Amino acid sequence: MIPTSLIRQFDIPGPRYTSYPTADRFYNDPKAQALLKGIEVRRNNPRALSIYIHIPFCESICYYCGCNKLVTKNHGMAVAYLQTLFKEIDQVVALLDHGGPKDIEVAQLHLGGGSPTFLSDEQLDELISHLNYRFTWLEHCEKSIEIDPRTVNSERLQHLKQLGFNRLSLGIQDFDPQVQLAIHRIQSYESVQSLLRAARDSEFDSINMDLIYGLPKQTPDTFKRTLSQVAVLRPERIALYGYAHLPERFKPQRRINTEDLPDAEQKCAMLESAVNYFMAQGYEYIGMDHFALAHDELARVKKEGRLHRNFQGYHTLKDCDLIGFGVSAISEVGHCYSQNAKSYDQYSSLVAAGSLPTEKGLELTVDDQLRRRIIMALMCQGEVKIQEIEEEFSVNFDKYFTNELLRLADFERAGLLKINADRIEVNDQGWFLIRPIAMVFDYYVWQQTDHQRFSKVL
Ligand code: SF4
Repeated sequence: MIPTSLIRQFDIPGPRYTSYPTADRFYNDPKAQALLKGIEVRRNNPRALSIYIHIPFCESICYYCGCNKLVTKNHGMAVAYLQTLFKEIDQVVALLDHGGPKDIEVAQLHLGGGSPTFLSDEQLDELISHLNYRFTWLEHCEKSIEIDPRTVNSERLQHLKQLGFNRLSLGIQDFDPQVQLAIHRIQSYESVQSLLRAARDSEFDSINMDLIYGLPKQTPDTFKRTLSQVAVLRPERIALYGYAHLPERFKPQRRINTEDLPDAEQKCAMLESAVNYFMAQGYEYIGMDHFALAHDELARVKKEGRLHRNFQGYHTLKDCDLIGFGVSAISEVGHCYSQNAKSYDQYSSLVAAGSLPTEKGLELTVDDQLRRRIIMALMCQGEVKIQEIEEEFSVNFDKYFTNELLRLADFERAGLLKINADRIEVNDQGWFLIRPIAMVFDYYVWQQTDHQRFSKVL
C-alpha cells in the first residue's frame, strides 16, 4: 500500500477517465452531428455493439447519490418511458442498419440507472423482447444488470436469468446499520446474503458488488466489518469507490451531515485496509478501485493486457461501438461521443417529436485520439509503449510531450513510475494514484483552473 504522505502529495481533484476527453468537454450538439458522423464512419467498419440502457427511476433517494435519476413510487412512469425508449431504439437502428433486419450484432448489454429493477418483470420482458427483435446477440454476449437488492427477490433473479442476463451488479455500499441510516439506504446483510444464494443457484456467471468508503458514520473499524461480510459472500468482482462529497453539484448530498464524514486520514485507513484485505482474500487488483477473483474474465484480460475502459468503467471487450439509450445515456461510436438530454422531459419530448434525443457531442481531434490512447493505456495497463504510440500517430513522443514528461518526472521521483526510453511503467504503488498520473496527459485539465469539479483520490 502507498504511504499516506504520497497520497496527500498527489491527491488533487481529477477525472475518473471513463472517457477522454471527459464528458464535461462535450459541446452542445442538438442536431446529433457527432453521433451521425460516428455512424457514417462506422459504415466502413461495422463493429459489434455494446449497448447501454439507462433506466432512471428509483423508489427512494440515497443521500450520497450523484447519478441521473428520478425518484418516484409511480411505476406507471416506466410504462411511458419504455415506449419512448423503444422509439429511440428504432430511430437509431434505422440509422445503423445497413444490411437487413437484425443485421446489428451485439457483444454486450448493460442495464444501469437509476435502478433497472424498478421495472416489473413484465416490463423487463417487454424491453428484452424489443431488443431481441432489433439486434442479434453474439455468442457469449455479456448481459449485465444493476440490482438494487431492496427491489429483488429470488424469483425475480430467476426471471432475470431466464431473460438471458448472465451478470449481476449489486449496490451494497456498506452493511453497517448506522451508515445505512445516514445515507438513507437500508438493506440488511441477511437479505443480501439470501439474494446471493439465490443468484448462485440460478448460476449467474459473475456477480459484482459496489462498495463506498468515506460515507457518513463510517469508521475504519465499522468498514472492516463490512469488508469481512463481503468476503464471506465472495462476489467475483468488487468495485470500491471513494465517496466524493460535492453537495453544490449533487443535491441529495446536502442531506448528509458534514460532521459525520470521516476525515482524510480515516479514508486513507479504510482504503488501505480494503486493499490489503481483498488481496489477502485472493482478489486481484484490477486498477482504480476494482478487484476481481483470478478466474473472473476481468482478471484474465488484465493479465493479458486486454483491459478496456468506457462509460461503464472497466470492461473486457475491445473493438465495440457503444450505443447508449435513454435519458442522459452516452454513446461512443468511432471517434465521436454523444450524450442524450439529461432532463427527463426534454429527452421524452425530443423522441416524441421524432428527433434523436441528443444534447451534447464531441468529435475527437487527432490530438484527442492520441491523448485518449495514452490515458487509457495508463488507466488499463499502467503502461505506455512509446514506440507503438509513435508509429500509430506519427509523432516524436519526447518532443510532442515535453511538458507532460516534465510533470511526470515528479511521479518518477516519488517512486511511483519509471520513464524508460521505450515505455512508461507505473508500479504497484503508482496504481493507487493512476488518476493524477493519467491527468498529466489531459490537455484540457491543464487549460483550466477549476479542478474542484472533479473528486479527489481520497
Ligand atoms: S444511488 Fe442508485 S439507487 Fe440510490 S438514488 Fe442513486 S441511482 Fe437510485
